[in-house]
Amino acid sequence: MPICWLISEEGNHKPIHLPHLQTVVVGRGPETTIKDKKCSRQQVELKAECNKGYVKVKQLGLNPTSVDSVVVGKDNEVKIKPGQQLHIVNHLYPYTVQFKADPTGNHSSTKRPRELTPEDSKSQGEAQKMKATKQTEKEGAGHWSQGLKTSMQDPKMQIYKDDKVVVIKDKYPKARHHWLVLPWQSIPSLKALRKEDCDLVKHMQQVADRMVEQCPDSSSLRFRTGYHAIPSMSHVHLHVISQDFDSPCLKNKKHWNSFTTDYFVDSREVIQMLETHGKVMVKEGTAELLKLPLRCHVCFKELPTIPALKLHLASHFPR
Ligand code: AMP
Ligand code: ZN
Repeated sequence: MPICWLISEEGNHKPIHLPHLQTVVVGRGPETTIKDKKCSRQQVELKAECNKGYVKVKQLGLNPTSVDSVVVGKDNEVKIKPGQQLHIVNHLYPYTVQFKADPTGNHSSTKRPRELTPEDSKSQGEAQKMKATKQTEKEGAGHWSQGLKTSMQDPKMQIYKDDKVVVIKDKYPKARHHWLVLPWQSIPSLKALRKEDCDLVKHMQQVADRMVEQCPDSSSLRFRTGYHAIPSMSHVHLHVISQDFDSPCLKNKKHWNSFTTDYFVDSREVIQMLETHGKVMVKEGTAELLKLPLRCHVCFKELPTIPALKLHLASHFPR
């Protein structure tokens, strides 16, 4: 029988063992390190069904527990499977569940198994994801690079959502229209994507295409959908951006080159790389592209400064 583990995505503590068919209650306390008063000490009841590969989640506390952003509701019960995300309370404290083969070959569910090690997760072909997750842990939940995770959970920022993805407005838009498509599934970056994520990435592309279609300026403005080869923000995000680059938030060479050189990797290219190589490959020297001279993406004229570039762009994209 596989062994089930509850994993803190923020790496706040070691995985918690969920023994087969035994109820485990988690909430505020030293075990989870959650100190938030909005979280009850007995917030969620979990019961692993190891033979079936899921965990039953029951919300005991008053404030919302959610699975993939859908609120469970007090005294309600839902199932969570590997790949889905559990937020203990108020869309905070993300967790996942994992089922691992019992390394002892023991079929008893009462014996305490060994602790989950990073190597265990690597065995699922997730070495990259572990590496990126560790980086995230190092940076901590409150670090600026974690801002997208907060924004994507904020209903005021959300402009579209379904069971797989959410679309938010970029907080510092670099053009008249600039959105980000993010999966609910916690994937730290482009580098962590694998072949099995292909359907998700294709769905992100479809949602992006629909956003463009529905934009009133879509007939007059061109759009691109893609990823920064080396992102600065954690949690994989697809940029959907109009090509006017008419925005006060576009302030420097780095901003400009990140959207107008090969630093910006087209979503379709990402899908192709995943299908062909099972991962996204970033070319050597990509970081250097940010230092290239300012060049208009329409007529390729080189401009000496950002103000000069903006003036020039106004001729291509009159308001
Ligand atoms: P990158 O990681 O380089 O692909 O870019 C991250 C994008 O996220 C940039 O376009 C930022 O303007 C945007 N951004 C940064 N912080 C936030 C936030 N808290 N909410 C929404 N968008 C953000
Ligand atoms: Zn030009």
